[in-house]
Amino acid sequence: MRIFLLNPSDFTRFSYLRGRVGLAAILKCLGVDAGDDVVTQAFTCSAVPEAIMYVGARPIYVDIEADGVNMDPADLAKRITRRTKAIIVQHTYGIPADLELILEVSGQKRIPVVEDCAHTLASTYRGRILGSFGAASFYSYEWGKPVITGIGGSVRINDGRLEARMKADYSRFREPSTARQMRLFIQYLAHAVVYRPSFYWPIKDLYHALGRLGVGESNYTPPGAADRSRQEFATKMSALHQVFLRHKLRGLADLVDTSRSVAARYKSQLGGIPLQRPRQPDGADTIFSRYPLFAADKAGLLHEARRQRIELSDWYATPVHPISGPDLEKVCYRPGSCPRAESACKRIVTLPVHAKVRRPHVDKYVKLFGASGLT
Ligand SMILES: *Cc1c(COP(=O)(O)O)cnc(C)c1O
Repeated sequence: MRIFLLNPSDFTRFSYLRGRVGLAAILKCLGVDAGDDVVTQAFTCSAVPEAIMYVGARPIYVDIEADGVNMDPADLAKRITRRTKAIIVQHTYGIPADLELILEVSGQKRIPVVEDCAHTLASTYRGRILGSFGAASFYSYEWGKPVITGIGGSVRINDGRLEARMKADYSRFREPSTARQMRLFIQYLAHAVVYRPSFYWPIKDLYHALGRLGVGESNYTPPGAADRSRQEFATKMSALHQVFLRHKLRGLADLVDTSRSVAARYKSQLGGIPLQRPRQPDGADTIFSRYPLFAADKAGLLHEARRQRIELSDWYATPVHPISGPDLEKVCYRPGSCPRAESACKRIVTLPVHAKVRRPHVDKYVKLFGASGLT
């Protein structure tokens, strides 16, 4: 049994409306400014470049490893310039990045590392918990993340000087309006009550429809929505929301056990089907936030999953999810610049690993993946 070193109140000390708001605060306190570059991986979420661009910097994308979902250390070394002021290292689906090689590169160039722990609260690398390797790390509590409170994010700091700056910076943040707090809470409750894997597709459709109507709390700010951004990036997590978060985090050990046992079941049940799993570095002990597989016919699998009402997620479907087409240029992503990330988007599907996954769901996945031609 793992012994948890993390205390739930470590996650409410610096807590924000969203993960990206915390990331922007870290970058600002690291001194990242207009005209600087911040390196991040392609095969990421639009929240990351949104935060980078909010502080005035330019996102530079690094390709992912062959057969993996995390940053390629060799490509990282190539994309660093004199303008690079920070490196964001993502642990996709909870799989640790190849930290030894990445930290070698960042150490040589003396560039601070920020760990994107949006998908992980408990995975370890060589016995040490993720989020403890960089100068700082940030977390997210959106749908699809390991611990869900609707929206929300936290920051943890591993550097004394940075910590002092973050503390001073935190005083400029305000709580959301009471009306918004109520709306967030109702959405959180609705999801907690209604959600189960067979409702995945209708809930997803509803969520996107509400987001488009401006009723719900969509996780995607279209590039250029400056007024909304200014307010969002000055908003912290409310005190009430912090109470929920601490409560949820006290259940983390159970979430970890469930993720381990569901992932083990997928591994053994799907073992007979020739499916490619993303690579993990030596020394990784991965607690998956979702269970990823590469498939030959992703579109066919998603279509079948929707038809049979089986939860199956497509993210990331684009190198800067969910941004696609000409809008990618607005977040500084040049199509073709990270070919392995683009290829992974065409092949990745992910399965849930939480307590509502039961044996009949696993059986359905076995049938789905076993169907000829799709994998
Ligand atoms: C979800 C996510 C974030 C942050 O999302 P917020 O909506 O800002 O909380 C950051 N990075 C990755 C990789 C994510 O998946």
